[in-house]
Amino acid sequence: MKKLSGFIWNIWKTTRTLKILLVCELISQSLELNRKTEIEGDSSHNFQMGVVPFIYMDYTCICSCIIVSVRQKDFLQYDLVHKGALLMKYIELGQTGIRVSRLCFGGLIIGPLQVNLPVKQGAEVIKKALELGVNFIDTAELYGTYAHIREAIKGISQKPVISTKCYAYTAEGARESVEKARRELDIDVIDIFMMHEQESRLTLKGHRAALEYYLDAKAKGIIRAVGVSTHNIEVVEACAEMPEIDVIHPLVNKAGIGIGDGTVEEMLAAIKKAYENGKGIFSMKPLGGGNLLPSYKECMDFVLGIPYIHSVAVGMQSIDEVIMNVKVFNGEKVPEEVQAALRKKHRKLHIDYWCEGCGKCVMRCGQGALSIVDGKAVPDREKCVLCGYCGSACPQFAIKIN
Ligand code: SF4
Ligand code: SF4
Repeated sequence: MKKLSGFIWNIWKTTRTLKILLVCELISQSLELNRKTEIEGDSSHNFQMGVVPFIYMDYTCICSCIIVSVRQKDFLQYDLVHKGALLMKYIELGQTGIRVSRLCFGGLIIGPLQVNLPVKQGAEVIKKALELGVNFIDTAELYGTYAHIREAIKGISQKPVISTKCYAYTAEGARESVEKARRELDIDVIDIFMMHEQESRLTLKGHRAALEYYLDAKAKGIIRAVGVSTHNIEVVEACAEMPEIDVIHPLVNKAGIGIGDGTVEEMLAAIKKAYENGKGIFSMKPLGGGNLLPSYKECMDFVLGIPYIHSVAVGMQSIDEVIMNVKVFNGEKVPEEVQAALRKKHRKLHIDYWCEGCGKCVMRCGQGALSIVDGKAVPDREKCVLCGYCGSACPQFAIKIN
């Protein structure tokens, strides 16, 4: 009897490591399935979730103490990476049938108009956002970030929702832009295609031929939803009444920085009407292009407290910024040192000495934030929303945001 119990003990000891690893793996899988169920709402995971705990139940009694110590580090890592995804909220974007995360990855900042991250580095930032539960990316033909996004979504089975936009006003120009986006993003269907930076009812009228093309592409299944991006109240008011428009991407921040034709209260009244008419609303520039960074938390609380905005696009240029924004959107506390570092961060428009005063940037700026003084471009920092669009018009590459 003594021999037999010694034999069993020896077997148990020699296979112990294997069992512990098996149990740890099963727990990890269980957590992952749990996460998928939360995010995708797919009840087919429930069966597997039930089976996994049952399998490891008989081991856990013996191994739990050892597991906790052996895998504690992994669980902490798991917590950091996956808690965001567990807590992230998702919502249907108006009547589009498209389900998006409350936090949208704003794709402008990583591209050549702003911090100009190399493709791989930019893709890593996007990937981290996707890992933390963000499923919505906003970009534009102008931003030059299709390559970053393509790299980030390569090989992902559950593709994020991608919204893009262009300035085309003819049907042919619209077709070229849609095809460019499909080719460079390597996707067949574009979730949301928008008319970029619409300024008034008149500009909407001037883009009618392009809009007709988008509607035709939507009917053919190439585009899922059609929209506009705008800094102007007049455009939101007009689009609220247009059945052709599914999504509106307006500028909203607590100080109203960048709104072209009125106050933030007037903008919110127009957005409310559009929302009630079934439009999907995802706002931009909650930090006024970076100008409001010192009051980051108040700015985010402001936009997140508006009940008629489905999602908010926030530009993020580093993994730290992604983690911080996810925490804020999930209602978690942001460490004081991170907030302090942000308060110190100050971005501004810089015009290099080799500016030739051609005035192309002045014409490009929709905010009226540039003028030519003594043969050089000079920014009005009160009006500038740090969008970086003027940089795309400068033949001398003399404009940067740093
Ligand atoms: S477009 Fe460039 S070169 Fe021309 S005025 Fe502006 S900054 Fe100067
Ligand atoms: S000056 Fe340039 S960065 Fe500033 S609002 Fe105008 S276009 Fe945007």
